[in-house]
Amino acid sequence: METIYFDNNATTKVAEEVLEEIKPLFCDLYGNPSSMHTFGGQIGRRISRAREQAAALLGCDPSEIVFTGCGTESDNTAIKGALAAVPNKRKVITTRVEHPAVLTVCRELENRGYRVLELGVNRQGRLDLAELEEQIDDDTALVTIMYANNETGMVFPIERIAELARSKGSVFHTDAVQAVGKIPLNLARSDIDLLSLSGHKLHAPKGVGILYVRKGTRLSPFMLGGHQEAGRRAGTENVPGIVGLGKACELAAANLEEENSKVKILRDKLENALLEKCPDCRLNGDTEDRLPNTCNVSFEYIEGEAILLMLDKYGICASSGSACTSGSLEPSHVLRAMGVPFTAAHGSIRFSLSRYSTEEEVDYTIEKMPAIVNQLRELSPFVAK
Ligand code: PLP
Repeated sequence: METIYFDNNATTKVAEEVLEEIKPLFCDLYGNPSSMHTFGGQIGRRISRAREQAAALLGCDPSEIVFTGCGTESDNTAIKGALAAVPNKRKVITTRVEHPAVLTVCRELENRGYRVLELGVNRQGRLDLAELEEQIDDDTALVTIMYANNETGMVFPIERIAELARSKGSVFHTDAVQAVGKIPLNLARSDIDLLSLSGHKLHAPKGVGILYVRKGTRLSPFMLGGHQEAGRRAGTENVPGIVGLGKACELAAANLEEENSKVKILRDKLENALLEKCPDCRLNGDTEDRLPNTCNVSFEYIEGEAILLMLDKYGICASSGSACTSGSLEPSHVLRAMGVPFTAAHGSIRFSLSRYSTEEEVDYTIEKMPAIVNQLRELSPFVAK
């Protein structure tokens, strides 16, 4: 059997339609969009089209789209840029379950004299909105809370949170890297000021992202230099990346509901079978308010890394935490924040599906997993024999 790729929250395959769109941009249409000549000008028009395609998916105005180099850059720009624009306010509110692209920036802010509050989550990975409301005060410059968690897929009530932040005069940023393309968004009807997304999570190439900046939001640019992106992000544009991301947004918008309900059926089949067939296995997160593609389960008494290696032998790719932290044996900060016991956090596996996942792949994984778990438990020093 060919590779079964269930690690789509780490990165996704570039869609064939996207690849076709960007191919001519390497050797034929390679002009610089900032050039005065016609050759460069036609590239500029392709970037404008990509901006419109992205705006259509997000439900915003094309002028509110800023192309960046990745989700991490969008997050960094949003946080640092929003704070630089309101230097008199010194408090930032975030959560303990953010991606390192947000958490590391926030922790560094503490060294610069900011008060950073990391809100906790409950066992299902949910926030306490009353606590958030209480904590946003006059000194709060920024609230930055992810739309959907990359490890568990849990989706926060971002519209409500954005409304709260706005009512209290704070700027609101959301890291929507895992949400875009999986749940419908309409930014024109929301109070979100800043939103980050990343191309490689939605079947566009790596190395391109977007920062949505709501009209009127004050933001200092992160990259200084030329006047690309209306002075909001200097640097010659990654034209193939941008055009590819535009096409990927168009594909996502065209098939969002249909594709995601298909993905959810497959994810649920996999998840229910694992919970039923593998003893001492539990779901991390909740069945409600979750991305349709993500399944995070813990297998007690065994190591997630050992499961991954066995899955790998069968050509099945999954993950034992976020790809950025793999290589470290520390259990996931997200699962720890949810109060998942140490042993269960160590034995956690994330399966993340995509529109290209098939029922045959799910069935094959369901067939292999119980045997893998049994075999590893036989070897486990923690299981009474
Ligand atoms: N935010 C979240 C929630 C993510 O899952 C990721 C990547 O895994 C990022 C940010 C970083 O995005 P990028 O890899 O494009 O820098």
